[in-house]
Amino acid sequence: MTAEPFQISRPLPRPSPFSRPFWEAAKRHELLIQRCPKCRTHIFYPRYNCTECGARDLEWVKASGKGTIYTYTVARRPTHPAFADRVPYIIAIVELEEGPRLTTNIVDCDPDSVRIGTPVEVAFEDVNEEVSLPVFRPA
Ligand code: ZN
Repeated sequence: MTAEPFQISRPLPRPSPFSRPFWEAAKRHELLIQRCPKCRTHIFYPRYNCTECGARDLEWVKASGKGTIYTYTVARRPTHPAFADRVPYIIAIVELEEGPRLTTNIVDCDPDSVRIGTPVEVAFEDVNEEVSLPVFRPA
């Protein structure tokens, strides 16, 4: 009898009614963020009310996918057992051209050359048939 290899699955997003359009768009390799119909503020993460004026009925708009690295850290030990074979990897907060910031990974980038302020563009990591994750690479 052969033992099954021990597998630890990667933590994945569980879309809520508010975030479902974001994750559905990510599957199509589109980065959607919300915009307030009243004051035009762009908003991320997905939510019910505008963070500036409280208005409801936020609309979904396609983001440019461009931004800059606001801050980052290089994980040299895995932050989760499922990421053990990925070290070192870059965890970053990217400030989108539209204003909102999102937590993500920087890919196709030497961890020793990553810098705050580096221009980046969105890419998508297809984890499985249900989930694609927005990540960013140097532009
Ligand atoms: Zn607003």
